[in-house]
Amino acid sequence: MTSPLAGTVALVTGASSGIGYATARALAAQGASVVLVARRQDRLDALAAKIQAVGGSALTVLADITDRAQSEAAVQAAVVRFGRLDILVNNAGLMLLGPIVGADPEEWERMIAINQKGLLYMTNAALPHLLAAAEDGPRRVADIVNISSIAGRVAWANYGVYNMTKFGVNGFTESLRQEITKKHVRVGVLEPGGVDTELGSHNSGMMRDSIDAFYESTEVLQAEDIADGVVYMVSRPRHAAISELWIMPTDQA
Ligand code: NDP
Repeated sequence: MTSPLAGTVALVTGASSGIGYATARALAAQGASVVLVARRQDRLDALAAKIQAVGGSALTVLADITDRAQSEAAVQAAVVRFGRLDILVNNAGLMLLGPIVGADPEEWERMIAINQKGLLYMTNAALPHLLAAAEDGPRRVADIVNISSIAGRVAWANYGVYNMTKFGVNGFTESLRQEITKKHVRVGVLEPGGVDTELGSHNSGMMRDSIDAFYESTEVLQAEDIADGVVYMVSRPRHAAISELWIMPTDQA
């Protein structure tokens, strides 16, 4: 049987850990050639070796997506290596929690730079190739999956700027979907609840304590659960687009 994504090329940002890592593996298992983008080369190399060991095809690209030139170079590297791009998973992200009152605006800038600007730079660089894949690629459809969050649907105290970045991702996704869906580039948003990854580890003090308490008291999702969702979204028949997918731990109210 042919793998559903055989012949396709998928680029995943933030592939060095957590959801991006699991998603890249899952897409490769479905037959996609995967382009692994992040800043930690050792992690990317280890993942590429795992994928190649089971017959998959992977390219690692070291890039800080907050830098527009590096984002553009990452997409270019994918196209030079594999000749095309069918799927973009905008996954890289950062969550720094805390009150707005007395906050360090440098933390806000870092979140906006990764969660929003990086996603925009990658999308902008990828779009010409995705439009081309939708027009004359083997599937005649292409995909952008933006990893947002439950924090893109619901706001909580101490999540202010993270909420802002993810609400923004949801709005941008829907706008772009309407702009290009008739060209058969599907643009969808996936909103996870709590997932067991490194995301909370960049926090400290009381916020870190409250994140740790949540993870200790909740049976959270695994990164593979979200990877399953991405695979589902990008492997629908050409006429069916999953515009929004909200995946929660059963244990999280
Ligand atoms: P991780 O911290 O495990 O992964 C984040 C990834 O982003 C890493 O691979 C990191 O790689 C990459 N990254 C960070 N900054 C940059 C940058 N400037 N340039 C390139 N890559 C970068 O967290 P998750 O897997 O949980 O996060 C993935 C996405 O899922 C995020 O968008 C997050 O907001 C979202 N999400 C996560 C939830 C959770 O509970 N875990 C819930 C809802 C949404 P490196 O450091 O090597 O660059």
